[in-house]
Amino acid sequence: MKYSLRTKLSLSYISVVLISVLMISVITNLLLDKHFKDYIIENQERKNKEIVSQINQQYKTGGEWDTEAIGNICINALEQGMIIKLVDSSEKIIWDAKFHDNALCEQMLAHIAKNMSSRYPNWEGRYVENIYPITNKLSEVGKVVIGYYGPYYFNDSDLEFINTINRLLMGVGAFSLILSFLFGSVMAKRLSTPISRVIATAQMISKGYFDGRITEPSSTKETTQLTETINNLAETLENQEVLRKRLTADVAHELRTPLATLQSHMEAMIDGIWKPDTERLKSCHEEIMRINRLVGDLEKLAKYESENLILTKTSFDISELIRHIIQNFENDFANKDIDVKFIGEKEIVTADKDKISQVIINLLSNAQKYTPQGGVVEVIVKGADDVTEITVKDTGKGIPPEDLPHIFERFYRADKSRNRLTGGAGIGLTITKAIIDAHKGKIQVKSKVDEGTEFIISLPKQLG
Ligand code: ADP
Repeated sequence: MKYSLRTKLSLSYISVVLISVLMISVITNLLLDKHFKDYIIENQERKNKEIVSQINQQYKTGGEWDTEAIGNICINALEQGMIIKLVDSSEKIIWDAKFHDNALCEQMLAHIAKNMSSRYPNWEGRYVENIYPITNKLSEVGKVVIGYYGPYYFNDSDLEFINTINRLLMGVGAFSLILSFLFGSVMAKRLSTPISRVIATAQMISKGYFDGRITEPSSTKETTQLTETINNLAETLENQEVLRKRLTADVAHELRTPLATLQSHMEAMIDGIWKPDTERLKSCHEEIMRINRLVGDLEKLAKYESENLILTKTSFDISELIRHIIQNFENDFANKDIDVKFIGEKEIVTADKDKISQVIINLLSNAQKYTPQGGVVEVIVKGADDVTEITVKDTGKGIPPEDLPHIFERFYRADKSRNRLTGGAGIGLTITKAIIDAHKGKIQVKSKVDEGTEFIISLPKQLG
C-alpha cells in the first residue's frame, strides 16, 4: 500500500503528538498521585495538630471547657471529613461528633468513600482514629480522638484540583492534535508541491518535451537541489536534442553540395553535353574525396566522443612530441610564410601519446589555416607541480566573441560563409575537447578578432 507524502507526514506528526501527550498525562498523573498523596497525608497531620491546639485553648483552669467554642471547632472539622471526640481526664465525654449529629458523620464518611472509590477503584482506605492528649501546665487534662478515612482521603476541592489538571491536559492534547494536523498538512503541502512539479517535469522530459522548467522556489535544501538537478537534466537533454538535430541537418548540408555537383556533372556527361575527359572526371573525384573526408570525420567523431574513450597511457616527453609534429608541419607553415616557434623544456606527462598528438595536430593545423601570410605561431610548454600547460598561440584572424562559446561544438564554424577551402567540417575542436576531457584536463580559448587566438590546455600529471 502506497501512501502520499502528505498522509505520511500528517500521520507522523499526529502520532508524535499523541505519544507525547499520552506520556505527559501518564507521568503527570503518576507524579501527581505520589506527591499529592504525600502532601495530603502531611496536611492531615497538620490539620489534626491545629485542631488539637485549638481545643487545648478552650480548656479553662479548674476543669472547665468552653463547649460552645469546642462545638464550633468540631463542626468545622466534621465538614472537612474529621470526626472528633473529646473526653476529659476522667473519660467524661465533653464533645462527640457522633452524639452531636450521627447522620451527618455517616453521610460525610460515605461521601468521602464514594469520592475516593470513584477515582481509585481499588482504594483500600479505612476509618482510622488518632488520639492526641490535651495538656494544661504539663498535666494531661483530656484526650482528643480524631477519626477520618486513612491513610489519606481527597475532599471535594482536592478532587476538583486533580480533575482540573486532567481536563487541562486533555485540552492541551486536543489543541496539539489539531495544531499538528494543520502543521503536518501545511508542511506536507510545501514539500509535496515542488516534488509533484518535479514528477510532472520528469514525465514531460521522458516524453521528449525538454522545455519545461521548475520555477517554484523552495526553502528546503534537498528540494532545491532536486529541482536544480531536474532543470539541469532538462537543459542538458534540450541541448543534446538541439545538437542532434543540428548534426543531422549539418551532415545533410555537407553531403548535399558535393552530391549535387556530382549529380549535375554525371547527368551532363550521360546526356553527352560534357565529354568525360580527365579534367571533368578529376572534378568528380574531388567531390567524392570530399564526401569521403566527411564520412571519415564522422567516424572519428563517433570514436572520440563515445563515453568510454579508451586511453593507452604512457609516460613521454611532450616537448619532444610537439617538436616532432612541428617538423612535420614545417612545409605547410613555410608555404604561408608563417614563423613557428617552440618554447619549452623537457616535460614528462602520463597520457595517451597518439591522442595527445591528434590534439596538437588539430590546434596547429587550425593555427596554420586561420593565420594569414607572415604571421607567427607559438607553442609553449610549461610544467607546474601537478599540471602541464600547453599553449598554442597564433596571430591569425581571431574568433568573434559570439562564436567563442560554441567553437567546441560539433560542426560549428565561426566562418559563416562556410568556406570549404579554408575550413574543415568543424569537428577538429570537438575531438580535441573530447580527448582532453578523457584525460580529465581542461581546454580554454582566448581570442581577439584580427589579433590572434590562444588555446591553453592543462593536463593533470597524475591521471586518475
Ligand atoms: P574546422 O575543421 O572548421 O577548423 P574546428 O572544430 O577545428 O573545425 O574549429 C571550429 C571553428 O573554430 C573553425 O571553423 C574556426 O572558425 C574557429 N577556429 C578554430 N581555431 C581557430 C584559430 N586558431 N583561429 C581562428 N579561428 C579558429
